[in-house]
Amino acid sequence: MTHPVIIGVDLGATNVEAAAVRDGDVLKSKKKKTRPEKGVEEVIDRIEKTIRKVFDKMDAEADDFAAVCIGAPGAVDTEAGIVRSAPNLKWDDVPLGEVLHGRLGLPVMVDNDVNVGVVGEHVHGAGKGALDMIGIFVGTGIGGGLIVNGTPHYGWRGAAGEVGHVIVKPHGRTCGCGREGCVEAYASKTAMEAIIREEMEKGRDTQVFEIMEDKGKNKLTSSVIEASLEAEDPLMEEALQNSQYYLGILTADLVNVLDPEIVVYGGGVVERLGESFLKPIKRTARQHYLQRRGAEQIRIVPAALGDDAGPIGAAVVAQRRLRASVN
Ligand SMILES: [Zn+2]
Repeated sequence: MTHPVIIGVDLGATNVEAAAVRDGDVLKSKKKKTRPEKGVEEVIDRIEKTIRKVFDKMDAEADDFAAVCIGAPGAVDTEAGIVRSAPNLKWDDVPLGEVLHGRLGLPVMVDNDVNVGVVGEHVHGAGKGALDMIGIFVGTGIGGGLIVNGTPHYGWRGAAGEVGHVIVKPHGRTCGCGREGCVEAYASKTAMEAIIREEMEKGRDTQVFEIMEDKGKNKLTSSVIEASLEAEDPLMEEALQNSQYYLGILTADLVNVLDPEIVVYGGGVVERLGESFLKPIKRTARQHYLQRRGAEQIRIVPAALGDDAGPIGAAVVAQRRLRASVN
């Protein structure tokens, strides 16, 4: 039997990317700016246009596709296809599935963006073949997801997998979630930038902000991090080591709880720095594993699919749900 072609969509606060996917292969794709500041209606229009562009590129019509599945950045009611809360988009209770189903006439499913990215890496990327896997994505925040016994673990409220908000330092730095000491408050790009700024304000030297300006960036991006490391900027090096240390602790804690075969690290920083970013994380993790037996076989590896993890994973999620609905 041939595999159906599914439209996988990665909805981010900056870009929306739609792709026609068949069995883990991206056939055609299209990216547009999301422009959340223009309001919910405009964003939904942009998602529809992006999807229709992919139809055109495939020289196909809606009927030629089996389903659409969207990874959205926030809490999602997957049964109802409703985005419950997506702070980056300023969305609350948006019935995205129903609205797009009405416009496209296809089954439209909605899931959390990080969950679908983790599923993509698990089925077609770095975690292929693993029964138990942890995905950790390092970006402006720290996201992640858990694969337990071959399937994504959602938890009874759909709230599982919030690896970025594991507290690694009680009463530590204030996190975006309002609590103190989460790993995200130390290890994300946003956190590294804040830490560097604080040290600079204490009178220490750094070139990070000049490098940022030279590159025309208004925040600490992965390319700014790389250039700052090349310039051997001491504050950048410290902030990165600090990030890696806490990610190592996080990794060990998660391994001690879930005992996965593999931990897949994704996101811009990991993509940019690769193995050199993971090395110190592995070292710290190993020092904190409870069960030493077989610990050297636990793999900590970079993600393999890059930006395609979202659309590819969304297509997998859609195909599984289609199958479940016929059975
Ligand atoms: Zn937090």
